[in-house]
Amino acid sequence: MIPIAFDNSYARLPPRFFAAVAPTPVRAPRLIRLNAPLASQLGLDPDWLKGPEGVAMLSGNDVPAGATPIATAYAGHQFGSFTPQLGDGRAILLGELIDRRGKRHDLQLKGAGPTPFSRRGDGRAALGQVLREYIVSEAMAALGVPTTRALAAALTGETVRRETLLPGALLTRVASSHVRIGTFQFFAARGDVEALRLLADHVIARHYPDCAGEDRYLALLEAVIAAQAGLVAQWLAIGFIHGVMNTDNMSIAGETIDYGPCAFMDAYHPATVFSSIDEHGRYAFGNQPPIARWNLARLAEALLPLLADDQDKAVSIAQDALDRFDAEFQAQLIERFRRKLGLATQEADDFELVRALLDTMQRGEADFTLVFQHLSEEAGQSESADTCRNLFADPTKFDVWESRWRQRLLREPTSAEARRDAMLRVNPLFIPRNHRVEAAIEAAVEHDDLAPFELLLEVLAKPFDAQPGLEDYARPPAVHERVVATFCGT
Ligand code: AMP
Ligand code: MG
Repeated sequence: MIPIAFDNSYARLPPRFFAAVAPTPVRAPRLIRLNAPLASQLGLDPDWLKGPEGVAMLSGNDVPAGATPIATAYAGHQFGSFTPQLGDGRAILLGELIDRRGKRHDLQLKGAGPTPFSRRGDGRAALGQVLREYIVSEAMAALGVPTTRALAAALTGETVRRETLLPGALLTRVASSHVRIGTFQFFAARGDVEALRLLADHVIARHYPDCAGEDRYLALLEAVIAAQAGLVAQWLAIGFIHGVMNTDNMSIAGETIDYGPCAFMDAYHPATVFSSIDEHGRYAFGNQPPIARWNLARLAEALLPLLADDQDKAVSIAQDALDRFDAEFQAQLIERFRRKLGLATQEADDFELVRALLDTMQRGEADFTLVFQHLSEEAGQSESADTCRNLFADPTKFDVWESRWRQRLLREPTSAEARRDAMLRVNPLFIPRNHRVEAAIEAAVEHDDLAPFELLLEVLAKPFDAQPGLEDYARPPAVHERVVATFCGT
């Protein structure tokens, strides 16, 4: 057995932070994917992980030495209503390890069997949701978006009962931590100020060491506001829809976490929703910024006892911090879109230029990803080709916008070639298109064929590079290929 140097700081917090529980062994574990580069980055030996002892760990059949398996406690607002106890119902944290660069990571098994937080759930995960999280979280990492990672996927050799019987699977997830807004809410709801303080100190030491010092809890709140504003700005810049932005699914570290019915938008429309459980569009694409702010208000509420002894004073401190969310988010968003449009300098009208493009895309039902990718190619030429304008239902509307953009580019110091290169580094060609994700899942679930999953992962690992022979992966879905709903599968 190769020892893994676990250092489990969360398990050293008081017992009310978690339940100690080991994974439930599975009948016939089969590793279907190991993320070897990530393993190496974490200082783990990919060959060992692929061997019998590694597979036993990745399937929950053996708990390695040094691990302290726990299910963490948290609460959360789900679609606006508060549940004081949720917790890890189908995930078990094996422990924490420090990577080669000194960064700490959680190693968690998702789908590892029941825990005291499972309520009526079976604690298991279906293969489809494991593959979706694997594909999309790894695509996000390659796109440069803060995210949890997928280290491995394994079949259990057992079935799980959902609407039908499905193959059971586990995902080994790596995260900076699994502390959520809902973790703070858990203790706030119980009036447990001591635990709130311990949790806040844990998070500051782990994620926001610069906040340590005077007014540390306000500094923490401000840091989380900035991190989540930046994260959602990145989602908006690549067309990502999380789908279930409940407070228990928002990471304190500012990583994208808990990929459920998430999806990338094809044609641009801010009201786009895929999630089958989001009937009212609460978590629609364009609603994500105000929802992030709403969630952060719940965090601020939870932190009130730490902000000041006087309740009114605490509320006013929290309110001031929250009031800065909009400006923070706007600044991050405009910066992202400036880069997407090849603008290295700042002008007051830039936001209006972005708005106008998005508006034209919405009316013209243009593909979000391809518009920016084709614009990047065209930025290297003084004359426009037809490729971008042809993405719009009414290309003449785009022509009007494009001449405005070209006027603006005349005031940029960068050469056309440098601009093109810079744009191609932020505007991907390949995103996890829904129809591709669904096809990969279907092949695996229905036919035990993992080839489409493997190929999709390969394409998405290099989202900004032209990949000869794989152009079709950049194509938006044809009408008959469109996926209209994604499912949690829980
Ligand atoms: P999520 O889908 O991540 O928002 O999960 C919401 C809550 O439901 C969390 O507390 C999960 O641990 C719990 N949960 C989801 N699926 C299962 C399952 N199959 N068994 C037990 N608990 C589950
Ligand atoms: Mg969750």
